[in-house]
Amino acid sequence: MSAIADGLFTSVSGRPRLVGARCDGCGAVTFPTQDLCPRCGSDGMITLHLAERGRLWTWTTQTYRPKSPPYAGSGSDPFVPFALGYVELPDGVLVETRLVVDEGEEPRIGAEMELCLVPFPLGGDADDGDVVTTFAFRPVEENR
Ligand SMILES: [Zn+2]
Repeated sequence: MSAIADGLFTSVSGRPRLVGARCDGCGAVTFPTQDLCPRCGSDGMITLHLAERGRLWTWTTQTYRPKSPPYAGSGSDPFVPFALGYVELPDGVLVETRLVVDEGEEPRIGAEMELCLVPFPLGGDADDGDVVTTFAFRPVEENR
């Protein structure tokens, strides 16, 4: 499977990591990476691998079909609602992300979440097999 977009995440020592950027001047952190700092306008943005864990800040349920692209499904495809949230990372950035929760469970605001990679069905006839990889956050299981 290919990634849903270039440069959003990578693998470090076999574990997925989001790729963000930190401003050399004021320390602001962005995700995804940006060429210019949104806070001070500096072009001294340094790529960094964001923390694997953060806290759930808020969430909602995506009950409608995402915009195309990247979602290419037609109106006749079954669309399964999914949880969408913001996870606050210790790097000082909020990440908009899909959430992985067990059936019948709901995400809990304030819960510790960890990064994972999940298949993302594009629907329709996307050219690389209809499924790409995207990132998501899931609740940390303390006893794992
Ligand atoms: Zn800055």
